[in-house]
Amino acid sequence: MNIGIPRESRAGETRVAATPETIKKLAASGKHSIVVEAGAGVHSSIPDAEFQAAGARIGSPEDAFGADIVLKVRGPAAEELPRLKRGAMLIGLLNPFDAAAVQSYAGTGVSGYALEWLPRITRAQSMDVLSSQANIAGYKAVIIAAGTYGRFMPMLMTAAGTVKAARVLILGVGVAGLQAIATAKRLGAVIEASDVRPSVKDQVESLGAKWVDVPYENDEERKIAEGVGGYARPMPPEWMTRQADIIHERCKSVDILITTALIPGRPAPKLIKAETVATMKPGAVIVDLAVEQGGNVEGSELDKIVARNGVRIVGFGNLAARLPADASALYARNVLNFLALSLNAKTGEFAVPKDDEIIKATLVCENGAVVPRS
Ligand code: NAD
Repeated sequence: MNIGIPRESRAGETRVAATPETIKKLAASGKHSIVVEAGAGVHSSIPDAEFQAAGARIGSPEDAFGADIVLKVRGPAAEELPRLKRGAMLIGLLNPFDAAAVQSYAGTGVSGYALEWLPRITRAQSMDVLSSQANIAGYKAVIIAAGTYGRFMPMLMTAAGTVKAARVLILGVGVAGLQAIATAKRLGAVIEASDVRPSVKDQVESLGAKWVDVPYENDEERKIAEGVGGYARPMPPEWMTRQADIIHERCKSVDILITTALIPGRPAPKLIKAETVATMKPGAVIVDLAVEQGGNVEGSELDKIVARNGVRIVGFGNLAARLPADASALYARNVLNFLALSLNAKTGEFAVPKDDEIIKATLVCENGAVVPRS
């Protein structure tokens, strides 16, 4: 088998789907040849020579895309599709919510596996790219906020007087939000956090943050808030209004606001209205992690810092790509673990277990057709 690792071509995409560590493991059986497109690791601080030393050959885009198994971070661009080989296995963040993109992958005849659809079961945790990358995004959001904020994060007692700790509010406490709490805590901030799912309260408190409660007023609200498969569902408008009122009040005393609220396959819920931003203190910083899904904050703009009455709203997309070396290291391990369902690294044997629930959940196209979502 040939395993190909193309260079990512999307603007701002710094990651790569394999590292020397994972290539060494893929090459261990001696049965597979691995080709990495020249320069694929450059933004992740991996020179071609390190891929070669691990057992890969450096090749052209045609070589990498033309392999039997193609490992990607993002789905291929339209002009890259003709390079794919019919029947090949394509693994990556294929954006399965974009029906046109999936249709275009199907048209190439590849078997496409979208890692966004990995089930959130214990066995899939080591493959869970959404978690590994959200963890990085949560960390980076706090680092960006601290770098943008014009004051200290920790409380300091100096000869020149006392400096107050920054007050941080985190909305949406999934993987990214939990890491944001942990990182802000290490920097000495005073933290509050909130989420729609009630199960998150204990996690927030165990990290030393205060839980901001938005009460449910009936069983229907409580049921919806529990979500499905670990993910949130859209809340009724009455609950959203109550949440907006509570958060509006909290925001008046907040120095840093980090929003991470997402609902799979839907626009991000709008949690912060322009009038709430208007009541925030001058110098406050907002980092909107949901900006690529439309944003949690009114006025946030993709890849921009917008100033509103002295409040800065940071809307950088793809935050994981701003920590490329570790993002690639973790992503590549996730991909290796996913591939291990089909490829035995020691013996080199390759057989896709079609009935495996992880394989079934992630397969988006095969034999020229889109696989319907069950
Ligand atoms: P996500 O990125 O889809 O969403 C981020 C957070 O936004 C979630 O906590 C969600 O509840 C919250 N949210 C959505 N709408 C909101 C609103 N209106 N107001 C406030 N918050 C809102 O979520 P995620 O980070 O992918 O993780 C979701 C859950 O899945 C987490 O509890 C995580 O621990 C769990 N998880 C489980 C496994 C596993 O068991 N294998 C793996 C990964 C994650």
